[in-house]
Amino acid sequence: MTKKPEEKTKQLLNIGKDQMDLLERLCNATAVSGDEQEVRQIVLDEITPIADQVKVDAMGNVLATKLGHGENRVRVMLAAHMDEIGLMIVKKLEDNLFEFVRVGGIDERQLPGKAVLVGRDHLPGVIGAKPIHMTTAQELKNKIDASDLRIDLGLEIGEKVKPGDRATFATRFEVLGPSIKAKALDNRFGVAILIALLKNAPENIDLLAAFTVQEEVGLRGARVAAYAFDPDMAIAVDSTPTNDLPPWDDEDENVQYNTRLDAGPAIYVMDRMTIADRRLVNLLCAAAEEAGIPYQLRQPGGGGTDAGVIHRTRSGIPSTSVSVPARYAHTAASIARMSDWENTLRLLHAALSKITPDLLANERRD
Ligand SMILES: [Zn+2]
Repeated sequence: MTKKPEEKTKQLLNIGKDQMDLLERLCNATAVSGDEQEVRQIVLDEITPIADQVKVDAMGNVLATKLGHGENRVRVMLAAHMDEIGLMIVKKLEDNLFEFVRVGGIDERQLPGKAVLVGRDHLPGVIGAKPIHMTTAQELKNKIDASDLRIDLGLEIGEKVKPGDRATFATRFEVLGPSIKAKALDNRFGVAILIALLKNAPENIDLLAAFTVQEEVGLRGARVAAYAFDPDMAIAVDSTPTNDLPPWDDEDENVQYNTRLDAGPAIYVMDRMTIADRRLVNLLCAAAEEAGIPYQLRQPGGGGTDAGVIHRTRSGIPSTSVSVPARYAHTAASIARMSDWENTLRLLHAALSKITPDLLANERRD
């Protein structure tokens, strides 16, 4: 039986087995900044059959176009970064111990004792930690310095590792009831959402999907992607840290929650690098309210997304960001809710479907 178009849309916007399998493959892949090939290949396999044009640019961004129908279509860029924070091997020492540096923002205290996967062969290793038996009371209080730590690969397989190889945390994707535990949910959520939107693109717009590289080291891929696409407007799709744990240690209420799990997609009004275009924020809020999708306005403050460079490209591009909230970002394992992921996908589809040339026709006098 062939499905009616509405049924097909509903199916693609619900997180089913196919979507979960895709997210699992994306999270378990290694794509530390500058070496995004594993995620790029998954993206290309998924979108090449359905996009009108797909290209990989000189930096490694995947730029995919899905054209709509009708006159005066708005050219909407969506950007999701493929890369994740991680480590880079810089030097081999005796006994197949390896010096490394951090790539992107990682707290050094997170590193000792973690299992890692090294290089494109995902060779298992560990960031050695001093056993508690040999640690002095003073050492327990000392700051941990990444330059004092080593990755230990055991004697056999270290031969295959070279300086420049990347390493990630060895966390495997798992479903925990309504939640997901994985590494790199920042930003495999965004990548999975962009793939789903390309497969189910609203026809009123031209969808310009940029799967970007090197976001975690300074939004480098998005800069050239936005220049190449030259869009009318842009939305960065990402994952944002929550700070939503209940108060303890005699604190009063947690008022610095930034975003919270279970509260829906986080719409940005301002972060460290971007003040969102008000027309786009209004569009997203109205779409959520009309469709009955829960949403939250992300508390302004730190952080940033690819929108930080996109909005300053060429003569300026109206931009904002929408993120899936996740706990414990940039650590070995994050926790997020499936419902927030699904609602972010639904919200973006609803908002894109509402875009008309009028949205951007007026000069900024808001
Ligand atoms: Zn991110």
